[in-house]
Amino acid sequence: MESCIAVIGGGPAGLFAAIAASGAERRVTLFEKLPQTGRKLLATGGGKCNIGNTLDAAELAAAFGRQGRFLLPALDVFYGKEMRDWFRERNVPISLEDDFHYFPASRRAGDVLACLLEEAERCGVQIITGCAVTDWVTDGERLAGVRTADGKTYPAEAVILATGGRGYTALGGGTSGYRLAELAGHSMITPVPGLTGLQTVESWPGECAGLSLPDVEVRIGLPRETVRGRGELLFTRQGVSAFAVLDLAGRVAELLLKKETVPLCIDLMPGRSREEWRQWFAEVRKHSGSKNLSRILADLFPKRLAVHLAGADDGPVARLTASGMERLLGDLTGLSLTIRETDGWEKAMVTHGGVKLKEIDPRTLASRCMTGLFFAGEVVDLDGPCGGYNLSWAMASGVLSGRSAAEWLCAPARASI
Ligand SMILES: Cc1cc2nc3c(=O)[nH]c(=O)nc-3n(C[C@H](O)[C@H](O)[C@H](O)COP(=O)(O)OP(=O)(O)OC[C@H]3O[C@@H](n4cnc5c(N)ncnc54)[C@H](O)[C@@H]3O)c2cc1C
Repeated sequence: MESCIAVIGGGPAGLFAAIAASGAERRVTLFEKLPQTGRKLLATGGGKCNIGNTLDAAELAAAFGRQGRFLLPALDVFYGKEMRDWFRERNVPISLEDDFHYFPASRRAGDVLACLLEEAERCGVQIITGCAVTDWVTDGERLAGVRTADGKTYPAEAVILATGGRGYTALGGGTSGYRLAELAGHSMITPVPGLTGLQTVESWPGECAGLSLPDVEVRIGLPRETVRGRGELLFTRQGVSAFAVLDLAGRVAELLLKKETVPLCIDLMPGRSREEWRQWFAEVRKHSGSKNLSRILADLFPKRLAVHLAGADDGPVARLTASGMERLLGDLTGLSLTIRETDGWEKAMVTHGGVKLKEIDPRTLASRCMTGLFFAGEVVDLDGPCGGYNLSWAMASGVLSGRSAAEWLCAPARASI
């Protein structure tokens, strides 16, 4: 008899799950609440889709932090060369940019999505768009199907929950996946916005809005906080953004659940120590002592920032007082900002938090709370930095959950939890 698998969510995790779950005598139906599948995928990498990077599986997993080991069984199944070969065999070659990031050679996220949709069709996956799953159908204790927003029910012995995160509502972000997981008995690590800009108590960054620094190092100015961001920093009307800040945002948002503000320290020129700055200024004083401090700093930083850094000490460098010099050296190596909130869900590229990992078996991605339920992608409590990490997890977990659901359905005596 034909068995049914339902996949909830038509992002990269859900599409890979549906493809991997397909097979003879199995009907796979994918439900997508938006009118089209893969809306977020199309926006990835600025539309170019940064699909992965050159790290090996262990290094990629480590970048997801303390819980990184959870990724390993999925990466073991579909990561790196397997992923690139899979797309190449389907006429979507993947190529390397800047020796680290992988993109489709065409630099079009649309080609990646088209390839997934073609493969899903070839595998006989039925895709129902504009159809949100809102509830489970159960038969006593057993999962028996899903209920959709229009009140219809669809039978399914196995279900893969791949509803993604909460960020970017227009691209499919929302909370219905978390609600479904909770109805199945799961608990949450409170989801907060990740990979997003940060808003400061200080108003001066707004005066520098639009200015960017190509390479700074940002850290959270609290004891035992080890997360660091390195790269471009952009000043915005409300605070700071760009790569140096994005990778810290999830942790900052988590801290903001308990604290009113979170301090940030920015090393404006990583690699140049306080002592090296001191020596550099000693030289400047010798040959350009009559020049104004802001004028000297403007050779290194955008003018508006230089004026801010010089502050009340602006005037001939030769006349800079000892205390003025110490204040300036402090700012250059650890400019402090106070974060009051993130740029919020509408600009959160990932969600930090989600379904608790302890309640999911990493070897199969099966729920430990409801028999027949599996998870894939960003809906679970895992998020990586910028740079192809999150799509790598979405794809690998999609493949593992799809295969696990299919294997579990085929098992002569289906294990229950
Ligand atoms: C602007 C932007 C750029 C990004 N760039 C990159 C990048 O270059 N590289 C990278 O690795 N990552 C990037 N990311 C992150 C990456 O896109 C996500 O981590 C990834 O898409 C997660 O895949 P997913 O399938 O788990 O979730 P999603 O892609 O979010 O897909 C989930 C789908 O489920 C649907 N859904 C939700 N609830 C229901 C429901 N109840 N019923 C039916 N359907 C439902 C949603 O509409 C959505 O289509 C970016 C994210 C954004 C927002």
